[in-house]
Amino acid sequence: MKAAPLDNADWLARSLAAVWHPCTQMQHHAAQDADALPLVPIARGEGAWLHDFEGNRYLDGISSWWVNLFGHANPRINAALKAQLETLEHVMLAGFTHQPAVELAERLRALTDGVLGHAFYASDGASATEIALKMSFHYWKNRGKAQKNRFLCLSGSYHGETLGALAVTDVACFREAYAPLTRAAATVPCPDARLAKANETAADVARRAAQCLETKLAAENENIAALILEPLVQGAAGMVMYDPEYLRLARALCDRYRVHLVCDEIAVGCGRTGTFFAHEQANIRPDLLCLSKGISGGYLPLSIVLCRDEIFQGFYDEEVARGFLHSHSYTGNPLACRAALATLDIFEQDDVLHTNLDRARKLYAALAPVAEHPKVRHLRQRGMILAFDAASDDPAFSRRFYRAALENAALIRPLGNTIYLMPPYIIGDKEIAHLGEAVRKALATALA
Ligand SMILES: *Cc1c(COP(=O)(O)O)cnc(C)c1O
Repeated sequence: MKAAPLDNADWLARSLAAVWHPCTQMQHHAAQDADALPLVPIARGEGAWLHDFEGNRYLDGISSWWVNLFGHANPRINAALKAQLETLEHVMLAGFTHQPAVELAERLRALTDGVLGHAFYASDGASATEIALKMSFHYWKNRGKAQKNRFLCLSGSYHGETLGALAVTDVACFREAYAPLTRAAATVPCPDARLAKANETAADVARRAAQCLETKLAAENENIAALILEPLVQGAAGMVMYDPEYLRLARALCDRYRVHLVCDEIAVGCGRTGTFFAHEQANIRPDLLCLSKGISGGYLPLSIVLCRDEIFQGFYDEEVARGFLHSHSYTGNPLACRAALATLDIFEQDDVLHTNLDRARKLYAALAPVAEHPKVRHLRQRGMILAFDAASDDPAFSRRFYRAALENAALIRPLGNTIYLMPPYIIGDKEIAHLGEAVRKALATALA
């Protein structure tokens, strides 16, 4: 007799018994009350939809933690990966090289107009942050300025959760829990556009914040290696958006005070803000650029740090100790690089940045009616990121909203009181309408 297929409840029970889920108070999953956090077993994905084991489906409104760009089980990425799998699944990148790693580095360099000429590979975003910080410090050390060993970040910044990355992460709950283990970077004010006073524009807020940056750099540049920031949108802080003017000013100040500018485009890169890289909207280039999340289309763990040739040259020497000392076992994994190449192919073949303009307009139109709600504040958008804040002092608001969205067949996971949409770039008109409806209904439930 054939065993009955396992259903949602089976997978749920087994997961709770064996898997420790990330960024989760596990007890909330086990709770039975109104504030319980549902755990959803997923059997398969297709396009923008996730399917469970019992015929329910959920529209992936946040691209599965911001990684999925062209839908689940994308036929083109699948085909590229199958071919790569038959050719070379992995080889170490120390002493060896391979086609996907070379081609990806070349294509990313071309996307920066040749300014960021070398690519260093790793597997996740937090590692990319750490690589950029180490590279910056070590570059200055090789240049005889070892005292440049401090970093600056913006208030509310998020650059990952490993110990080194936590040092430049200013999200209170992450940072405070492990504060004794880190060497915290100094923070300078974030140019959050919501801070605009009457008669002030977002660019004015940016100029004010840049003055604080200047004061800090003028006083301490001898000890500062780099400023790290998330260009245009601070993701984990709650989709905090700011004017490109800040990036222009920060670039000029970093040049003047000889401090590296690190752009963490792990979340905002790969077309998310409308341009391929967010920093392009300020007409600048960073010294170091971190990429991850969307770069592999949401398929495989991959991160990349791109750097200027001048930084690369600072390590080029006889001596091993002057070389960059960093490695991960799966560095430059061919499958992950192949997924990234297939992702870049789709950007080119489908003219994605252009077609996203229309998608972004439709997303805004779908959310605009929600902004009429008296408890909705600051509806904002940058490309394919939309967000608003809900005025609620219910500590369980985000959990309630999340659950109500699932009940309306949508995956939308608020950051505190900030509700945001960050869907894959294949989302169609009907799906956009579905998301708008889900937000409206979930908001009504969560605020009730
Ligand atoms: C997600 C994220 C990271 C960390 O990436 P992980 O792969 O989760 O380690 C770093 N910076 C930003 C801006 C991110 O959004």
